[in-house]
Amino acid sequence: MGIMALPASEIIEKDRNHVWHHLSQHSVLKHQDPLVMVKGVGSRVWDAKGNSYLDASSGGVWCVNVGYGRTEIADAIRDQVLKLNFFASTAGTAPAAEFAEKLLEKMPGMSRVYYASSGSEANEKAFKIVRQIAQQKHGGKKHKILYRDRDYHGTTIAALSATGQEERRMHYGPFVPGFVEFPHCCEYRSQFGDVSNYGVLAANELEKVILREGPDTVGAVVFESITAGGGVITPPEGYWPAVMEICKKYNVLIHMDEVVCGMGRTGKWFGYQHYGIKPDIVTLAKGIASSYAPISCVVTTEALFDEFIADSSDRAAYFRDVSTYAGCTAGPAAALANLQILERENLVNNSAQMGDYLLKQLVTLKDKYSVIGDVRGKGLLLGIELISDSKTKKPVAEEVAIKIAGMCMKKGLIIGRTNRSFTHFNNTLCLCPVLTLTQKEADFIVATLDAVFRELLESVDLLSST
Ligand code: PMP
Repeated sequence: MGIMALPASEIIEKDRNHVWHHLSQHSVLKHQDPLVMVKGVGSRVWDAKGNSYLDASSGGVWCVNVGYGRTEIADAIRDQVLKLNFFASTAGTAPAAEFAEKLLEKMPGMSRVYYASSGSEANEKAFKIVRQIAQQKHGGKKHKILYRDRDYHGTTIAALSATGQEERRMHYGPFVPGFVEFPHCCEYRSQFGDVSNYGVLAANELEKVILREGPDTVGAVVFESITAGGGVITPPEGYWPAVMEICKKYNVLIHMDEVVCGMGRTGKWFGYQHYGIKPDIVTLAKGIASSYAPISCVVTTEALFDEFIADSSDRAAYFRDVSTYAGCTAGPAAALANLQILERENLVNNSAQMGDYLLKQLVTLKDKYSVIGDVRGKGLLLGIELISDSKTKKPVAEEVAIKIAGMCMKKGLIIGRTNRSFTHFNNTLCLCPVLTLTQKEADFIVATLDAVFRELLESVDLLSST
């Protein structure tokens, strides 16, 4: 019997009794039913009880870029796995070769695609590339990898060691040595007061850390071009040119984690392309196949790839890394069909246009409701930071964002929110709809948020309880 044939109550009971949900406190489910999703079409999803929602979270974790129910991607996967479902990535396969070429056309300056199956895994592999280069080329020096406060790079222990979110790290130390944090660049939460050259000052924090650690120990810096789950943090004017200069000065590789910002999310093919960044390494996942199949990759320059090509004296220099599922052909087959859809339907452009439209409406909401401290983002990656005091910018309690997300759901809208941070970026609501978003759907998102904020104003107690 197919799962869809089960009555809703049975699916929900099986879920309640047997499944452990990610990032969830299950005690809540003693008092309410778990949310179980059963269907998606375009920008809408349906739960087991038959409720339908406009999904402004692209699957909850910013990844269903081309939307739900794409038969073209399903057909591509089916055709490919019937032909050849798998062969280890020590060899090539047709869809892996074809997708790599198409992807690289969108990434001038980049040259090689190394496959994996999750964002964390791609980042782990990128870190291994940096470490191997440190050993082969720098005699073990230049092995440190710097990362920013508030950036997220994954859930596995090394990726978490490179993550600047204490709300994700708090139970999992000790961490892997050689990863060093430096401050974020959020202008709204300025560390330097109200200054005109905030971007340069924020970049200088990176230089200070490189100098403190010793430039000969630092191999790479990993960034999100726009910090997603850490609070949708856009870089201030002047930040990236200063960062690039610093990295060049100290011979430090730039690794852009485009797991969220890649594949059109921010209104360009890749987030780093807004800022003229020239990365040495780019990691991709999520939107790369709009999550029709688990696939990720590390993309490098030819110069980096060359570090692993043996001159005749050292055949040991190959990259000593392997993952079984990098050889599953469903991933690149789905990624290829996904890329064709993005191109044919001009969705990168739509992301830019609808993002601008949505951001303008959010500014209007901000002017109306003092609980909105800041709205920011690019393309269809937008954040609404909530505060309880406009002078101190004190964040609202976590319950407020939970409540808002719940109220939106009751009105048929799914939004995201960042999780509790114990410092400053608490409670940023996230809008990350599918890239096919229409103006009518954008208007629905804004009208729903407007209604929710209006209702929230009436529950003053909740807003002031921080
Ligand atoms: N990098 C970024 C920027 C992410 O947002 C995520 C996932 N949220 C990851 C890496 C890790 O990806 P995955 O969950 O596929 O391991």
